Amino acid sequence: MRYISTRGGMAPQTFTQILLGGLCPDGGLAMPEHYPQVSPAELAAWRGLPYADLAYEVLRKFCDDIPAADLKALCAKTYTKAAFRTDAITPLKTLEPGLHLLGLSEGPTLAFKDMAMQLLGNLFEYVLARSGERINILGATSGDTGSSAEYAMRGKRGVNVFMLSPYGKMSPFQVAQMFSLQDKNIFNIAVRGVFDDCQDIVKAVSSDAEFKARQRIGAVNSINWARVAAQVVYYFRGYFAATRSNGERVAFSVPSGNFGNICAGHIARMMGLPIAKLVLATNENDVLVEFFRTGAYRGRPSSDVVQTSSPSMDISKASNFERFVYDLLGRDADMVKQLWSRVDMGGEFNLAGTPYFSSIADYGFVSGSSTHADRLATIRSVYENYGVMIDTHTADGLKVGLDHREPGMALICLETALPVKFAEAIREALGRNPDYPSGCENLESLPQRFELMDADAEAVKAYIARHSGV
Ligand SMILES: *Cc1c(COP(=O)(O)O)cnc(C)c1O
Repeated sequence: MRYISTRGGMAPQTFTQILLGGLCPDGGLAMPEHYPQVSPAELAAWRGLPYADLAYEVLRKFCDDIPAADLKALCAKTYTKAAFRTDAITPLKTLEPGLHLLGLSEGPTLAFKDMAMQLLGNLFEYVLARSGERINILGATSGDTGSSAEYAMRGKRGVNVFMLSPYGKMSPFQVAQMFSLQDKNIFNIAVRGVFDDCQDIVKAVSSDAEFKARQRIGAVNSINWARVAAQVVYYFRGYFAATRSNGERVAFSVPSGNFGNICAGHIARMMGLPIAKLVLATNENDVLVEFFRTGAYRGRPSSDVVQTSSPSMDISKASNFERFVYDLLGRDADMVKQLWSRVDMGGEFNLAGTPYFSSIADYGFVSGSSTHADRLATIRSVYENYGVMIDTHTADGLKVGLDHREPGMALICLETALPVKFAEAIREALGRNPDYPSGCENLESLPQRFELMDADAEAVKAYIARHSGV
């Protein structure tokens, strides 16, 4: 399996060649040259597999330059009860017949990003040990991504993490998750500023090519191909858990921000998993809903991003969306390049009236958005009707999923975080505190370790140079 760029300007690469990279050299995103297909016989054989074995079967179709036995061992080491608190790894909770939540938040940071990031930590360590290289991961976070990356990379040989976060702007639980880590390879930098300041610093540091090369700066953001590939696995697992036979068709509802999660659903469907519908749910930041409704894709200036109670979906543009558009345009890389030359300049494109946009129904996508009031009402009704507490992001997905529910077809809503991460909204909805999963009760009282800095890229560079060990 080789990987090419959505913008056509990259010679084919192997899985491990693109593993540590971010954007392709031409600014595009890495994509497999073709989607591997899953035969009915394979689908039948996969139905009963434990999660780690299923992950191996799916991933080996995408990754053929790690020896099979090693890839199998990496999957077995990643998807354990010790890390994900349950043997199922992704437990299915049935609310009523035909309506399910797929639990993707049982990992160490209680959000779905662990599903891929935990594997990435082990893959990075394996590949770096093989080549004898080191990497310094630099990132900016407003919450879930940063903690997930830190818990995946903590203690890993060859890897340091420098994570910028806006000081005083994250939920107390998110802060405690990150800042209580005492591992020597994890560096939390709290920036006096907002999330955009953090992101600007990352951009400034990464655009200094000399510094980037010397300090071996890398990233683990949501466009990383291995993350998308690892997420494909739970669509298969969720399908098997919610159905009795491989003749059934299902709908998945996905709380969406950067389009990484639902992009994996699209790929699972392209591989042959019988998904009838992919329900894309956003909060008030609805660039993607606008596209699926009108054909116009218009990134917003970051000043127009609405701060919501489902903050991990507060985006101005959806960084993985280019992968889907590449498929929608019949993999015409020149056209993708042309469209994104406008998007990257802050402009827009519009596919309305083109045969591409008319073919969108063939891909199973439907969409809708949800508001703060919808989230609270959904959290309340799920708690009252089923005795189950859900978080705000999952509530967005469930709300929009139910709007598109079809009688006789199972609806599987992805649970992307646990309520304890967003306690304030739970108190507002239910008038009580969320439950603490075991092991997290004292997290907020542990000693915290972080460096407080001004929003100054040069100062951050100096800090990295002092601590990177390069
Ligand atoms: C990151 C995140 C999302 C959005 O996922 P994308 O892959 O960016 O679409 C949704 N919910 C939670 C809790 C998240 O952390």
